[in-house]
Amino acid sequence: MAPVVLDKINKVYENGFHAVHDLSIDVADGEFLVLVGPSGCGKSTALRMVAGLEDISTGNLLIGGRRVNDVDPQGRDIAMVFQSYALYPHMSVRDNIAYGLKLRRMPKDEIERRIAKAADMLELTPLLDRKPKQLSGGQRQRVAMGRSIVREPQVFLMDEPLSNLDAKLRVQMRAEISAVVRSLNTTTLYVTHDQTEAMTMGDRMAVMKAGILQQLGSPSDCYDTPVNIFVAQFVGSPPMNLVTGHITQGANGLEVKIGDTGLQIPESVVSARPALKSFVGKPVVVGVRSEDMEDANLARDADETRRIKGKVTLTEALGSELVVHFTFPGERVETADTKLIEKEAGAEGLRVGPELGVTWVASFAPRSRVRMGDDIEVAVDVERVHYFDPETSLAIW
Ligand code: ATP
Repeated sequence: MAPVVLDKINKVYENGFHAVHDLSIDVADGEFLVLVGPSGCGKSTALRMVAGLEDISTGNLLIGGRRVNDVDPQGRDIAMVFQSYALYPHMSVRDNIAYGLKLRRMPKDEIERRIAKAADMLELTPLLDRKPKQLSGGQRQRVAMGRSIVREPQVFLMDEPLSNLDAKLRVQMRAEISAVVRSLNTTTLYVTHDQTEAMTMGDRMAVMKAGILQQLGSPSDCYDTPVNIFVAQFVGSPPMNLVTGHITQGANGLEVKIGDTGLQIPESVVSARPALKSFVGKPVVVGVRSEDMEDANLARDADETRRIKGKVTLTEALGSELVVHFTFPGERVETADTKLIEKEAGAEGLRVGPELGVTWVASFAPRSRVRMGDDIEVAVDVERVHYFDPETSLAIW
C-alpha cells in the first residue's frame, strides 16, 4: 500500500525564491493524481521533491506511511517518467527496459518475466529488438513507460511525459497511459500544464498557481464548482466567459444586471449560494460556460429573463457544434488571472477591442443559422451561472 502524503510542503530555492507554499495533498493508494497549472506554478518542483531530486525546505513527505524527506531517490521505491525519454541509443528496446533491473542484479528469469509482461501491456513485444532510433515518438514514449513499469515501484511520478508528442498521438497516449496505470493500480502523480490532460486522466486534479494550491478535487468538481476565477477559467476550454454584473432585488427575486440586460437568478441558485443576498447593490463577476448558452431562436421557453442580446463577431462550424463569438454591452473583467489565462490559452489579444464591450464564446447546436454580423439573442441557462466576488476572486456560496 503506497499512499503519498504531502504535508505543508514548502520549497524555497537557494536564491530565496519561494516556489511552493504549504502544499498539502493526500494521494490515496492507487490513485491517479494530476498536478496542473500554468508554467512556473511550481508543479515540477513539487514532483521533484516527491522524487527526492530536490530538497524539501519545510514540511513532511510520507510514502507508504514512511517519512522520506531524507531518503535518497533510490530508497523511495518510485519510478519517474520524464518528458525527454532519455533512452540509451545504442541499446535495444529490451535492454533499455531491462537496464535498471540489471543494475539491481535481479535474476535473469525474473527480468525476462517482467519485460514480457510490460511489453505485452504496452504493445512493444514485436519491437523489443529494435534500437530507439527505429521507433516513432509514441513508441519511444512507451519504452520509457516500460522501463518504469518493470521496476514495479510503489509510486509512478510523471513530468509532462506527453509534451514531445504531436497533438493526435498525445490524445492516444493519454488514453493508453491511463489504461496501463489503472490496470497496475499503482499510485501516480502526474504533472502537466494541459488542463485537458488533467481532466481526462486524473481521478483528482490539484490546480496550482504561483506555488499555491488553488483547488484539489475530481475533474467535475473543479469544472462545475470552481473555487475561484482562476480555476473557473483555467479548467475547461474555451475558458469560462466572464463579465461584471450588479445584483439587484427585483419583483420576482434577485436579478443580475449585465450592461443593459438583466438575468433572473432562480431561487434554487440563491439557496445554493446564499451569500449572493449580501451582494445586492454590489458588483459581482458573472461566469457562464460556452455550453450553458444556446441560440434563443432554438431554445424552449427562452423568456426575456434569461436572454442576452449581442452581435456575432465570428462563427466556427465544427460539425458537432457551432462556436459563436458574440459581443454585447458590458464591463470586461480584466485581472492578473484573466490575463494569465489568455496567455496560456494562446488567446492573447483575441478578445481585445470588442465593439460593444465584452466578447463571449457560446457553443450552439449545429443547426443554428446565425452568421457573422447577425444581431442575436442568446439564451443563458441561468441555473448554471457562476458568481464570484470581484475583490477576492472567490466563488460566492
Ligand atoms: P513549467 O511547466 O514551465 O516547467 P512548473 O510549474 O513546473 O513550470 P517549476 O519548474 O516547478 O514550474 O518552477 C517553479 C518556479 O520556481 C519558477 O518560477 C521557476 O523559475 C523557479 N525555479 C525553478 N528552479 C529554480 C532554481 N533552481 N532556483 C530558483 N528558482 C527556481
